[in-house]
Amino acid sequence: MQERATAALAAGKTISFVPTMGFLHQGHASLLREGRARGDLLVLSIFVNPTQFGVGEDFESYPRDLQRDSETARDNGVDIIFAPTAGEMYPSGYQTYVNVEKVTLPLCGASRPGHFRGVTTVVAKLFNIVKPTYAFFGQKDFQQLVVISRMVRDLNMDVTVVGLPTVREDDGLAMSSRNAYLSPEERLGARCLSRALAAVSELYHAGEVVVERLRAELLRILDSEPLARIDYAEFRDGDSLEEVGLADDRTVVALAVRIGTTRLIDNIMIAGGVTWKEKC
Ligand code: AMP
Repeated sequence: MQERATAALAAGKTISFVPTMGFLHQGHASLLREGRARGDLLVLSIFVNPTQFGVGEDFESYPRDLQRDSETARDNGVDIIFAPTAGEMYPSGYQTYVNVEKVTLPLCGASRPGHFRGVTTVVAKLFNIVKPTYAFFGQKDFQQLVVISRMVRDLNMDVTVVGLPTVREDDGLAMSSRNAYLSPEERLGARCLSRALAAVSELYHAGEVVVERLRAELLRILDSEPLARIDYAEFRDGDSLEEVGLADDRTVVALAVRIGTTRLIDNIMIAGGVTWKEKC
C-alpha cells in the first residue's frame, strides 16, 4: 500500500481515502462518491480495529462481509481496498498510541473509555500508510470528526479532512452497520432518535433557545419509546464540544441510545445546516 501511494504521489496524483470498518452501506458509499470526484486514486480501508472496542463490546460480533463490500467498492469506483489483519496493524511489541485530550472526554469518550485512543491511533497509522491528500469522514460520528480534525491540526498531518452529511434511511434512522443487529420491533423503536432530534430542531426554529426546555422535548420523545435506554442526550458547541446552556447555530445535539442491546448514536446541528461539509 505504501509503495502504491508513494508512486501515485510521485506521478503527481492526488489520493482520496475513506477509512471504514466495512459492512458498507449508503453512508459509506456517499463518502466513496465524494472521494472519487475529488482525487485521482481512491483508497478504501476495511479494518475492524480491535483497539477502539472496549471489553464486553461487540468486536467479535461486528458484522463483516468482505465479498459484498468488494462489490460496493467496485460499484463506487474504488481503486484499492486496503484490508489489513489485526496482526499486521498491531504486531507483537506494538506500543505506540495517539491521544487527543479535551474533545475526547465527553459523550462517547465518557461512555467508551479508550475508544478514541484506538480511533486516533488507527487513523494516524492509516494516514501514514495510505498517504491521503483528502480523507473523508461522516458527520454521523460527529465527535470522531472533531477528534480527527483536532489530531490533524495538532500533529501537522498533511491531509485535508472532509466531513460529509449523515445518510439516513427513508424514516430518518441514520444508516449504520450496527442497524443489522436490530430485530424488526427494535428497528421501529430506533426511529425515536431521529424523531427526537428533528423535534428539537423544529422547536429551536420556532424560537426556543433555552437548552433545559429543548432537552425536555428531546427526553419526552426518547422516554416515550419503551425499548430505548438513554446513554447520553446532550447539547454541545459543535467546535469545542463544551456544554451549552443556550442554543445557537453552532450547537450540536448528540445522542447515544440503546435499543435493546444495540447502542446507536445520532446527532444534528440544531440549526439543521450541513455545517461539517468542507469544514477543514
Ligand atoms: P464505520 O465503518 O462505521 O467506522 O464508518 C466509516 C465512516 O463512514 C465514518 O467516517 C463514518 O462517520 C461514516 N458513516 C457511517 N455511517 C454513516 C452515515 N449514515 N452517513 C454518512 N457517513 C457515515
